Amino acid sequence: MSAADVIVVGAGLAGLVATAELADAGRRVILVDQEGEQSLGGQAWWSFGGLFFVDSPEQRRWRIKDSFELAWQDWLGAAGFDRPEDEWPRRWAEAYVHFAATEKRRWLHDMGVRWLPYPGWAERGGYTATGHGNSVPRFHVTWGTGPGIVAPFERRVREGVARGLVTFAFRHRVDALLTEAGAVCGVAGKVLEPTSVPRGAPSSRTEVGDFELRAPVVIVTSGGIGGNHDLVRRNWPERLGKPPRHMLSGVPDHVDGRMIGIAQQAGANVVNPDRMWHYTEGIAYYEPIWTRHGIRILPGPSPLWLDARGNRLPVPLFPGFDTLGTLEHIMRTGFEHTWFIVSQKIIEKEFALSGSDQNPDITGKSVPDLLRSRLASGAPAPVEAFKQRGGDFVVERDLRRLVERMNELTDEPLLDYGTVEREVLARDREMANPYTKDLQVTAIRGARRYLADRITRVAAPHRLLDPDAGPLIGVKLSILTRKTLGGLETDLSARALTTSGEPLPGLYAAGEVAGFGGGGMHGYRSLEGTFLGGCLFSGRIAGRAAAAEVA
Ligand SMILES: Cc1cc2nc3c(=O)[nH]c(=O)nc-3n(C[C@H](O)[C@H](O)[C@H](O)COP(=O)(O)OP(=O)(O)OC[C@H]3O[C@@H](n4cnc5c(N)ncnc54)[C@H](O)[C@@H]3O)c2cc1C
Repeated sequence: MSAADVIVVGAGLAGLVATAELADAGRRVILVDQEGEQSLGGQAWWSFGGLFFVDSPEQRRWRIKDSFELAWQDWLGAAGFDRPEDEWPRRWAEAYVHFAATEKRRWLHDMGVRWLPYPGWAERGGYTATGHGNSVPRFHVTWGTGPGIVAPFERRVREGVARGLVTFAFRHRVDALLTEAGAVCGVAGKVLEPTSVPRGAPSSRTEVGDFELRAPVVIVTSGGIGGNHDLVRRNWPERLGKPPRHMLSGVPDHVDGRMIGIAQQAGANVVNPDRMWHYTEGIAYYEPIWTRHGIRILPGPSPLWLDARGNRLPVPLFPGFDTLGTLEHIMRTGFEHTWFIVSQKIIEKEFALSGSDQNPDITGKSVPDLLRSRLASGAPAPVEAFKQRGGDFVVERDLRRLVERMNELTDEPLLDYGTVEREVLARDREMANPYTKDLQVTAIRGARRYLADRITRVAAPHRLLDPDAGPLIGVKLSILTRKTLGGLETDLSARALTTSGEPLPGLYAAGEVAGFGGGGMHGYRSLEGTFLGGCLFSGRIAGRAAAAEVA
């Protein structure tokens, strides 16, 4: 293998961005990944491609008034930075929000990336102005979803390959960072046997050889821990209750977290490992690609959300409002699953599924398919497929029968019909007036004042038991692992730091393994669309800083 200026470990989005920047600066890079070439792009390829922009032209077109100040207020409300080790994360956060409000969109636009014309409103909060949540819609879905975000960086990296600057080393699993005189100077590990599994599927771990690669700089971009449930449980914070016994995986198996410990052994400091971002609206995929494969429902605000016993979740834990607040509440109920009860009318307008494969219209960049699937009657085809084939869905016209069948999906019949009926009838009575004491109903009406939500995302308020809105649908929801918010501590140049706060010579980190910058720029919670953006931002910084170091 050719000599290199820099070794990048991990060919996900952060690794591709760093490599593209290095190659454009004329540096020689070896891009190492344990998976085969078919999985290039890592998680980002699977992603929905939602990006956090502040004061974008798309927002302005809908008269959304956004600003750095408002976004920073929201970020601080979500992050809740409260530890001494939040020093670098907080600095990264401020720099990132600034990037999202200025250069980010233009940089991507210049590379040919485009977005849906209506920003979505993720993590709506539900607290006061300084609390968690987005004050305004900021979730910009990439035209082409995840593959649309990976494409320009893959193109730049492949140009680097063609120019002889970049060498791929697929099926190379790094097991150790090499050090000399206190500086990281390379990587060592095992070559895994070739694989032809489809993208994202678990690949063989059979070793066919050893390897050692040396370079003055190593950048670790190996992703988080979401595919490794043992690590998730080990790092599970007490504030979220006991670690769940049963979880779905929202990420492929290669998101195994091993490199975090390996970097730590070489002297890098890990901060905030107990901060993570898991979803509460997971459904088991009926055609799993990776182990325990789950999909996240991106819900609109209307589903009735019940705990395992049929009691409504408290204010403001409405669908799409406060992911971790909801997780914390669920883990206190003594059960790990919850239920949505929705009408057919709600599922048609409000159920979206996260992931490139679940949004073929946007991923395939087809305007006619987009209009047909989002605006015509009937649920989008992937949602309908889950309704018909998903093991977590029950469809019935009669509420009593619905509850009986929901009870058949759990080991014990935990739902009491009387409790569920009381919640449904009570909520339905609150629909009669244009005002109400029920804050979820107020939130639904409030959301519809944002025109894009009204057209694309939020069903007109109606009674769940209105026969014209039926049938009724019950959906069993599980906890779905996804993102790692803590990680390797880095300074603003993406240099990995030691426990004493000094840069560890020769080592940089970017993307999810670095908590998207600093070792946890999200703090405790995210505003969404900030993970891909965090990879773009930190990958770019790491690539540029490393290019300068080896100049
Ligand atoms: C279904 C889905 C939907 C998502 N939607 C969004 C969204 O809409 N918006 C958003 O902001 N974020 C979203 N995300 C999150 C986002 O995609 C990820 O956080 C991000 O892509 C992580 O990128 P990364 O480069 O840090 O790591 P990864 O993509 O995990 O890549 C790391 C790479 O490192 C390799 N690797 C790991 N360890 C080793 C080792 N020891 N040796 C060699 N190679 C190794 C892995 O094989 C992998 O290829 C979504 C994620 C998923 C899965």
